[in-house]
This record gives sequence, C-alpha cells and structure tokens, in this order.
Amino acid sequence: MPAEYIMQQILLALTLSIPIGYIAYKRHGLSLSGAITAIIIAIAVFLTGWQTFLIFLVFFLSSTLLTKWRYMIKEKKQAAEVGRGRGWKQVIGAGGIASFFALVLAVNLVNKCYNPEPPYLLKGFFTAMLAAIATSNADTWAVEIGAAFNKEPRLITKPWIRVPAGTSGGVTLIGELASIAGSLLISIVALILYWISHMYELFPWNIFIVNSSRLVLVVFIFGWLGEILDSIVGATLQVKYFCPNCRKLTDKSIHKCGTKTEYYGGFKLVTNEVTNLIATSISSTLAFICSLYML
Ligand SMILES: [Zn+2]
Repeated sequence: MPAEYIMQQILLALTLSIPIGYIAYKRHGLSLSGAITAIIIAIAVFLTGWQTFLIFLVFFLSSTLLTKWRYMIKEKKQAAEVGRGRGWKQVIGAGGIASFFALVLAVNLVNKCYNPEPPYLLKGFFTAMLAAIATSNADTWAVEIGAAFNKEPRLITKPWIRVPAGTSGGVTLIGELASIAGSLLISIVALILYWISHMYELFPWNIFIVNSSRLVLVVFIFGWLGEILDSIVGATLQVKYFCPNCRKLTDKSIHKCGTKTEYYGGFKLVTNEVTNLIATSISSTLAFICSLYML
C-alpha cells in the first residue's frame, strides 16, 4: 500500500485541485500564492482520503461563494475581502492546522502497515483534523454572513460596546447563528461520508473506528467553540489599527482607503491569520483530547 497509495493520492490531488485552484484564481477567490498554497494543502488532505478532500471542498466552495455574496454591501462597510482573492497567509490561517493533523494522520496510516499504532491515536488525529475544518468553516460563515447584513457588531468580550463592521472580535446574532450552521454542515457531511465509507469498505475512512454519533457531536461542538475562541482572541490579542481618515478600527496597517493607519492595540505579531491559527489549534487539540475519552 504505502508508496503506491501515496503516489496515487498525490496524482488524484493534483488532478482535482489544479483546475479548482485555477478557476478560483481566475475568479479572484484566491490570489496566485493562495492558489498554490491551497494545492499543497490539498495534497496533504488527500493522503487521508478523498473523503477529507470532499469536506475541504465543501468548506472552500461555501466560503468562496459566501465571500462573493452581497459583496457590494460588505464593500460599502469596508468589511469585504480584498478583490484579488485570499493570499497564502489566509489559506494557511484557515487550512494550516487541519493539514498539519492530516499529515500526522497520513504518516500514521502509512506506518500502520508495518507497525500498528494504537487505534486511539488515529481516532484522535482524525477528529482533530475534522474539528479544525469545522472551526475554519464556522469562522468564515460567521464573518461573511454577519457582514452581509446591516447589523452593528458588538465586541464579544464587552457586548455593551458596538464596533464597526469588520472589526476583529465583533459579533452579531446572525453571524453567531451562521457559525453554528457552518460547523454543523461540516460535521454532518463528515458523518455521512463516515457512514458511506464503512458501508462500502472505502479506504481509509473504513479503518477509523469511532462512535459516529459522538464524532458528529465532538466535531460540531469544537468547530463552534473554535469560532468563539477566534472572536475572543480577535477582540483581545489581535493587533488593531485606527484609520484617521475614516475614523474606523481595522486589522490592516494600510487601510482600504489607502491611508496609513495608526497602531491602536493588541500584539503586532497577532494578525488575523495568526488568530485563525490560534483558534484552530486550540479547538482541534481539545477535540483530540476529548476523542480519546468519548469516541
Ligand atoms: Zn480609511
């Protein structure tokens, strides 16, 4: 299995992800660096099965479509993503931790042929990877659906303070409901693929033995929790700048209007992408620990 399996999965990953990456680049869903990074992540993900790739695709397509949805409204509020598409830093922020767990899981899968790992470790990496994808999906859905409506966000750590749309740590009720739906979608798609894989003996998901109803619950809860963590880190640790021209808070050192912004608060190293990495690593680690006891 190993060498042959690895080659086959890499070829499949390239065949499917290069055209998708190209279309996303042409349609300004991803920048060139973003598209290349996404293709590398697709290879890591594919090593843990086409099933994981399909889940990633659900995340990627729904997030890209939601970003384009009501774009003019978000643009007006200056809460829209940049027109060129998401760059490599954003792709790593959203998919880095999931692909890390995917790689660890893949190494364990390959080793399993020679030296069977304790099954609970496979179970843990599998759950952590899914929880990381659920967190990223919940976060993008919250941001993109929340920004599409004319509701003024409140700061998650101080709900009595209203902040301009697009401010890190700003939440709306619609955004929070969207994040629940975003996490739920990933966990339900994972559950369906898990069932199908076991019913038809589809490798490699058929070798992960977990309690499927608890799996869906763990992925959903930690996906959603990860999004809340993302908002809390966004409100507290993440760097914030102030645009003197628009008199608005932003996470960019150069505002959309072209004005150089002033430092306002937070740690300069904690950019939006770092916030995403912190939130997904905490949620997936918690899901990992939880899976050892619950699944
Ligand atoms: Zn400005």
